[in-house]
Amino acid sequence: MSPDYTRSHQQPVNIDDRVLKGDATAQKLENATLKAELGNASWKLLHTMMAKFPDKPTEDDSAALKSYIHLFARLYPCGDCARHFQKILAKYPPQVTSRSSGAAWACHVHNVVNKRLKKPAFDCSKIGDFYDCGCAEDPVPSKGVKVTKDSFTPLTLDDKEGLTRGG
Ligand SMILES: Cc1cc2nc3c(=O)[nH]c(=O)nc-3n(C[C@H](O)[C@H](O)[C@H](O)COP(=O)(O)OP(=O)(O)OC[C@H]3O[C@@H](n4cnc5c(N)ncnc54)[C@H](O)[C@@H]3O)c2cc1C
Repeated sequence: MSPDYTRSHQQPVNIDDRVLKGDATAQKLENATLKAELGNASWKLLHTMMAKFPDKPTEDDSAALKSYIHLFARLYPCGDCARHFQKILAKYPPQVTSRSSGAAWACHVHNVVNKRLKKPAFDCSKIGDFYDCGCAEDPVPSKGVKVTKDSFTPLTLDDKEGLTRGG
């Protein structure tokens, strides 16, 4: 008999801060090749997700993205990376009020990791070209959002959410 997945789907998910910011779950990842492959794929996912995030998100969209980022950090399957990234999130809280602020934030925290690993910094002013959101291909544009080929708005760091220590 196959498991009843619908039952667990019906249970409400209440995610509080304790769940979002709890201890990282994974063990240290010793295999350097796996660690690099995982990192590469994960950054691609994160940056592309930002490029596809709504320009004008609803409160729910923003809450979902913020939760996702904290859970991404907590569950990241390289334990030492996860613990470091959680510290980075505590210092630079996710910015989720628009596509451009999210993309700028992700670029910034990736550069923090790059610096720690002695990799060159990425020029975040180029991020809109690099991770093309592909918005022009969307058959159904978001309500109220004017879609053009170059619809990636210029990057700004949102002071309100504080890309600063301890914000
Ligand atoms: C959350 C997280 C934490 C990690 N922590 C660690 C760790 O503690 N120790 C460890 O050894 N590895 C860690 N990694 C893996 C590490 O960041 C790299 O992914 C891995 O070393 C492979 O590096 P890479 O040179 O292929 O480029 P990556 O850093 O994987 O980047 C992939 C591509 O993204 C582009 N890119 C580079 N910087 C940026 C930027 N700032 N913004 C947008 N695009 C950019 C470049 O084209 C680059 O080639 C972590 C990965 C993630 C996702």
